[in-house]
Amino acid sequence: AKLSGGGTYSFFGNQMTEKENDRQILKQDLRKAIDQQQFELYYQPILDLITEKVVCLEALLRWHHPKRGLISPGDFISIAEESGIILIIGEWVLLAACLEAVKWNDTISLAVNLSPVQFRDSNLVQNVKETLIRTGLAPNRLEFEITESALLLDSDANLFVLHALKEIGVRISMDDFGTGYSSLTYLRSFPFDKIKVDRSFVSDLPDGNGADAIVHAVAVLGRSFNLTTTAEGVETREQLECLRSEGYDQVQGYLFSKPVQSNQLHTMDAVVRF
Ligand code: C2E
Ligand code: CA
Ligand code: CA
Ligand code: CA
Repeated sequence: AKLSGGGTYSFFGNQMTEKENDRQILKQDLRKAIDQQQFELYYQPILDLITEKVVCLEALLRWHHPKRGLISPGDFISIAEESGIILIIGEWVLLAACLEAVKWNDTISLAVNLSPVQFRDSNLVQNVKETLIRTGLAPNRLEFEITESALLLDSDANLFVLHALKEIGVRISMDDFGTGYSSLTYLRSFPFDKIKVDRSFVSDLPDGNGADAIVHAVAVLGRSFNLTTTAEGVETREQLECLRSEGYDQVQGYLFSKPVQSNQLHTMDAVVRF
């Protein structure tokens, strides 16, 4: 492999596997996707476990690829991150989601996923401020979901960004909790408002491979650190009852609703603004 003038790798011989080739093609396609309006946000409700009312909607990105149809973020976010296009996509996501959320009942907050790459972007805080002003969304209705991998390096810089975001009045959730390596350290040092226990543990409830022990431990941690505890990926009544007995605050998953298009949100009573 040799670095060509455009900063991309060109491969000679049979070096480029089919998979790498595919990523290159998708990378090119991604550059056009925003202008050609191929992105759409779906929204998945997060419910208060006691009242079973919607308290939050998580924005989840979908890509309508002209040739391949609907593509899930798992298949393109890493490509967008590698190429830096995620910064442009992330700004679009935030703006589109805030424009949508101002139409909802104002008891419902909006959760937006932040890529580690966005988190390290020096324009992030300013962009969040401007987007809130431009859309009129109250800062306390916006929460950012960040995974541990976003925080791995350079914890002073990360702390600075987190505090700057908190200063604006938005909330911060630690996403996919339990899948990383240093969760406990992060809980102590960073100003989180919420932890979301990862779907992999929830889907193994009631007891598979110690999932129950982890789900219990996260509930205890949440209470000790005074954080809202959320469980994602709830698919069965049995899982819900486990989470209820552990005292979780919020639940999200196919048991309640899959992510839906914004024009489907009116079917959720609690979401429509009366
Ligand atoms: P995540 O933030 O952990 O989001 C939860 C994922 O689990 C979503 O997949 C959701 O559709 C899925 N899910 C929710 N409930 C259930 C359930 O009961 N069962 C099962 N099997 N799955 C459930 P999705 O939408 O494919 O998103 C995958 C990941 O892509 C997200 O994981 C998030 O890390 C990332 N992502 C999505 N949208 C964005 C975005 O706008 N920006 C960034 N940076 N990342 C995003
Ligand atoms: Ca998330
Ligand atoms: Ca998650
Ligand atoms: Ca996840």
